Amino acid sequence: MAFPDIVYYEPGALEFELGKMLREKYSLVPWVEIENHNNIPELRSNSNSAFPQMKRHLVVGVRKSHKYSENHKVSDYLVPYTSSGCIASCLYCYLVCTYNKCAYLRLFVNREQMMRKILETQRKSDRPLCFEIGSNSDLVLENMITGNLIWTIERFAESEKGSLTFPTKFHMVESLLTLRHCGKVIFRMSVNPQEIIRTIELGTSPLDKRIDALNSMCEAGYPVGLLIAPVVIVENWKKLYSELIEILAEKLSPKVKSGSFIEIIFMTYSYVQNAINSEAYPNASPLFSRELMTGRGRGKYCYKDSLRKDGEEFLRRELALKLPNMKILYVV
Ligand code: SF4
Repeated sequence: MAFPDIVYYEPGALEFELGKMLREKYSLVPWVEIENHNNIPELRSNSNSAFPQMKRHLVVGVRKSHKYSENHKVSDYLVPYTSSGCIASCLYCYLVCTYNKCAYLRLFVNREQMMRKILETQRKSDRPLCFEIGSNSDLVLENMITGNLIWTIERFAESEKGSLTFPTKFHMVESLLTLRHCGKVIFRMSVNPQEIIRTIELGTSPLDKRIDALNSMCEAGYPVGLLIAPVVIVENWKKLYSELIEILAEKLSPKVKSGSFIEIIFMTYSYVQNAINSEAYPNASPLFSRELMTGRGRGKYCYKDSLRKDGEEFLRRELALKLPNMKILYVV
């Protein structure tokens, strides 16, 4: 996919070093001035079927909202960071639901300001804090465009204490392996059976490359974790996830298997996603099932309790058997 096909930009973004770099890098495609990256009327009025095409657009702006949300899973805070949205098209991506049709990649060029706030928050705290910086996009993919992850890891290494963390579904970690990270960045790789990656996680890295990337990051001294997420209940799901855990047991390095943790997240889905997917990807596997799912308010759906409970027991059993030394942090 040729990316980007067009860049929408806030003029203020070009005053920043990163904005200038992007202007230069993508000088051959049209640049269209916008007032606000949150509201681009010509894109908002597009039909659902234009969704894949919009994934090729890039939006460059200045992040104005810097409000952290508390989080109690791996991190203490979810931090709005250098991007929102993504070029890939996982059919369940919750960003679609949060930003609706604006799930295209938006890059925010004021990274110095965002890093200052993280360092300042840590400095004022009397305990080490963990900041989740990758909850609004995939930073490994973003790094291929901006180099922001390299920049971030090197800056945060200077912090006296605390850590950063982010999940990814991409394998392009080569440029991160030799950085001075001081063990302060927790790298979390998200995995799924290859069949689900191929049919549902459109545009992301294949399973074998994700496993290699996780092994390499662990070898490079980063603390690492594994996300089995989201667990998607398709027809033969127990067979697929059992095979996945077997592959992980075989291919993860002894270092990963002995010193890292696992998070398990069952898929949720929404009315909005269903509407977009049915028009934008009419041939893709349907993810909504009246039989398996139940509403949980505001047009969102999750798997029925009994199914989720059975799924959790099944995964815990398989993991205890095949990856007994990896601690399961939580299942949601
Ligand atoms: S890689 Fe992550 S951010 Fe990108 S579409 Fe998939 S779930 Fe969404």
